[in-house]
Amino acid sequence: SKNEGRNKLKVFDPATLHAQLLQRQIVGELREAIRADQLVLYYQPIVELSTGRIEGCEALVRWNHPVHGLIMPDQFIPIAEATGLIAELGRWVLRTAVRQLRRWRDHPVTAQQDFSMRINASAADLQSLEFVDAVSAALAEEHLAPDSLVLELTESAIIQNNELDRYTLASLHRLGVGLEIDDFGAGYSSMGYLRKLPVDRVKVDRQFVKDLGKDPSQLGFLAAIQHVIHSCGLEGVWEGIETAEQAEALRSIGCASGQGYYFGRPLPEAEFTEQLSRLRTW
Ligand code: C2E
Ligand code: CA
Ligand code: CA
Ligand code: CA
Repeated sequence: SKNEGRNKLKVFDPATLHAQLLQRQIVGELREAIRADQLVLYYQPIVELSTGRIEGCEALVRWNHPVHGLIMPDQFIPIAEATGLIAELGRWVLRTAVRQLRRWRDHPVTAQQDFSMRINASAADLQSLEFVDAVSAALAEEHLAPDSLVLELTESAIIQNNELDRYTLASLHRLGVGLEIDDFGAGYSSMGYLRKLPVDRVKVDRQFVKDLGKDPSQLGFLAAIQHVIHSCGLEGVWEGIETAEQAEALRSIGCASGQGYYFGRPLPEAEFTEQLSRLRTW
């Protein structure tokens, strides 16, 4: 029939075929990139809003592609997640970030005992029994206390709600690494889980800060979110702070920590170290 013909044609759709080939090529190149050290971490400061103290940084991965230049994570993390490469990529990020933190231990700003490194963990990490051992080994190798590392986990990764996830999460908590929910409020969150999970911090999605200043009632809304986070015994981290006004507004309602272009863009190791040398506090 006519319909069957259409379906058959679809299989040979040159656009789809091209996309598949492209995807396959990218996957191959990405696998190679992890081994050939083409990935690079950028670091962005996280600031204590009441004092301006730089309390840590978030490591954000980029792909320094030999032909296409610097590729942002939104362009390859989803592919890595869909193909299982994310596990290997995540281990690379873990080792590299922890090694970097060790190097910064001698720096006047980052030598603070509580300067912490945050990395983005993935849903696959929580599904892997070896992940806890990998984290523990990476920290031991660099002689770092577990609480100098914070794992950021998105709501969708954390609320899979299966036994293995819960087991991994509990083991990480026992190990003593910091656990933080990332992009809070971005998805269909039910706040109920905030009180049940063994997490310490909540990073509020940047969409909430973005609307600050446009609508006067927004600050009251953010204060309510902040109140919920506090009531659960957790600390709030606010991302996407781009202006002094936003930083001040958040500080005025008692928000603990902030991150965003206002305090500093993500920078490669050398530039970030230089920025730290100029600033002890923000
Ligand atoms: P994320 O974890 O929510 O990271 C914050 C993103 O917001 C970063 O984008 C950062 O550059 C950007 N950002 C920081 N401050 C501001 C600001 O003031 N305004 C605006 N508009 N944006 C700001 P980036 O580096 O492109 O990373 C995008 C996403 O890719 C991350 O979102 C995270 O989900 C993922 N990602 C990055 N690195 C890794 C990694 O090592 N592993 C995994 N699994 N995912 C990663
Ligand atoms: Ca993050
Ligand atoms: Ca985030
Ligand atoms: Ca995000």
